[in-house]
Amino acid sequence: MLDFSVTEEDAAIRDLAHDFAEKEIRPIAPKQEWLQDPAERFPWAIVEKASKLGFRTMTVPKEFGGIDASFTAMILALEELAWGDLGVAIIFSTTLAKVKRIARLGTTEQKEWFFPRFMENDRYVLSGATSEPAHGTDTFIAMDTIQLNTNAKPDGKEWVLNGTKHFINNANEASLYFVTCTDLSEKNLGGRTVLMVPRDTPGVKVERVHEKISQRLSNNAEITFSNCRVPIQNELGTAATREAEVLHFAMEHNVQAAAMMLGVARAAYESALEYARNRVQGGKKIIEHQAIGMMLAEMVTSLECMDALKFRVTWEAEQSRPNYDLGPMAKYHASEASIKVCLKAAEVLGGSGIMMELPVQKYVRDSLSALHYDGTQQAALIRVMNSLIGGR
Ligand SMILES: Cc1cc2nc3c(=O)[nH]c(=O)nc-3n(C[C@H](O)[C@H](O)[C@H](O)COP(=O)(O)OP(=O)(O)OC[C@H]3O[C@@H](n4cnc5c(N)ncnc54)[C@H](O)[C@@H]3O)c2cc1C
Repeated sequence: MLDFSVTEEDAAIRDLAHDFAEKEIRPIAPKQEWLQDPAERFPWAIVEKASKLGFRTMTVPKEFGGIDASFTAMILALEELAWGDLGVAIIFSTTLAKVKRIARLGTTEQKEWFFPRFMENDRYVLSGATSEPAHGTDTFIAMDTIQLNTNAKPDGKEWVLNGTKHFINNANEASLYFVTCTDLSEKNLGGRTVLMVPRDTPGVKVERVHEKISQRLSNNAEITFSNCRVPIQNELGTAATREAEVLHFAMEHNVQAAAMMLGVARAAYESALEYARNRVQGGKKIIEHQAIGMMLAEMVTSLECMDALKFRVTWEAEQSRPNYDLGPMAKYHASEASIKVCLKAAEVLGGSGIMMELPVQKYVRDSLSALHYDGTQQAALIRVMNSLIGGR
């Protein structure tokens, strides 16, 4: 039986995130995103305040000092943070997802090493590094048939890691990287593994922070690993446990992306609605012109569809036997719908839709990032298509 009602605890976290977005993110983000150097834009003041409220650590298990918030609470919080600024939400989404990975796949020793460090430092954020210059979409749809160029070879009690990753969220600030690479060990030769690599490991270098038009507060960077030596016990999971987890992890990531795109689309819609209720042309408020009113009706209908699918997929992710195909569907649909809603919002505002003094231009720019991150739209549809071919 589907039940999309939100518990009091989850609603409190959602409301706290909304309040934080309104009071602490929105007043700062529009200016900070235009600082000239992309490396300088990372919003440490916001991250620290949000961390003190628990948004950085909400997925940490109770035994390690977290609140082990529900997946629903995490999704609702990310949507509200994205309503404030997509870049800020991305910083937390990347970090919270990796925390869940350690909680599920980590050994006791790894958890006892990681969680105390993570809990005590408001600036401890995380990065997942999979994409590399020669392998982007391949990593989403053809992982079994490709070998990542980044590789790790055991040498005594250490892995020796070499390679280049690019476009990586939080990479210039993260304290710990989760690096997906080709395993050159004898037991798994040519397979894949994931290593946890502390930022201060000799041989780790952030080569450059990419400049981009969307998510400007969350940095993406290129990192190189040159003969980096990490302890053998820093391997996260085994081939078998990662395999069992991969679909679940992908589904959670997809609905995180969908919820954040909904947050951006809601922000754009609200701006357009307010504008249309106040702007007078042709002797009446523009919302009373059918051409504009119907655009707003279409936008709000899209928001309702995105919201319903978000809840459905969140609910599925919380089940023990979820329907994994729904993850890429939600990501695909929310990305398309968000871009359409944001473009319509810009149209409703007339010339003001692209003026820098109003936020709608920012929502349009941010919505475009949905085409590329968490896999492309094509990658999402190919995953759905493959299960159709498989006879679902
Ligand atoms: C804002 C942002 C944040 C990101 N954050 C991270 C991160 O934190 N960690 C990380 O590891 N990566 C990250 N990425 C990388 C992201 O996952 C890749 O950019 C994405 O998967 C696409 O890869 P690509 O850029 O190499 O494009 P390509 O793979 O070169 O694709 C180019 C085009 O070809 C299409 N295409 C490619 N292969 C196929 C195929 N087999 N069939 C049909 N069409 C195909 C694609 O859909 C796309 O339209 C981020 C990217 C962005 C933009």
